[in-house]
Amino acid sequence: MAAQTQLFLCLKDNFGVLLHDPGSGATAAIDAPEAAAVEAALRATGWRLTDILVTHHHHDHTGGIEELKQRYRCRVVAPDAEADGIPEVDETVREDDRVRVGGLEGRVIETPGHTAGHISYAFGPDKLVFVGDTLFSIGCGRVIEGTPQMMWQSLLKLRDLPDDTRIYCGHEYTKANISFAKTIEPANLALIRREQEVTRLGVEHKPTIPSTIGEEKAANPFLRADLPELAQSLGLAGAPAWQVFAEIRERKNKF
Ligand SMILES: [Zn+2]
Repeated sequence: MAAQTQLFLCLKDNFGVLLHDPGSGATAAIDAPEAAAVEAALRATGWRLTDILVTHHHHDHTGGIEELKQRYRCRVVAPDAEADGIPEVDETVREDDRVRVGGLEGRVIETPGHTAGHISYAFGPDKLVFVGDTLFSIGCGRVIEGTPQMMWQSLLKLRDLPDDTRIYCGHEYTKANISFAKTIEPANLALIRREQEVTRLGVEHKPTIPSTIGEEKAANPFLRADLPELAQSLGLAGAPAWQVFAEIRERKNKF
């Protein structure tokens, strides 16, 4: 049976999401920004928490783990490279490891850059990817612990997923990201269409995700840093893609 998801906003602008396998009843929280919001989502769905899949060590992704672990005795899966900074870890994972949630099978993709050990979880048969703070809709995470080269390589790994893969990210930043993206590619029609969609979703008080890999490839400037015309428009014709990416990231930091 196909995976089900339950998306919710929590803390200031974090997304939380539950991943549910209707066949076995298993349910994973992707990160645990705060226990109360995860529990509210569990109550709303009637699902029981069996696993927490952690993307990285930042507190706004791990703050709810201890309380949830105590209450549900759930398994906590975390990136090997950051396990020391994450509470209650039962299992550490690395590149290409498989992670089961009941009958659902995910694959670990190491996506360092935002943090040095950040990972994403791709559930291939269900066309879902949980990217934490690596990729946002029309944006990407700040490069805090890694280098721009590292972050660019991580984004390329996500960009290689099938176009119809649905992306669940860690924050609702889409509107601000679009304002910035228009300074990089003002004539990008996919970006203009995405802005119209996000405006409509805002009026309806709906979240702007999930988007898809295909949509992000068309409209997210951070995934388009290897387009010659984009490099040229930034005065970086002929520069390696990671340098173009670094320039876009730097401009966003100052935006
Ligand atoms: Zn973070």
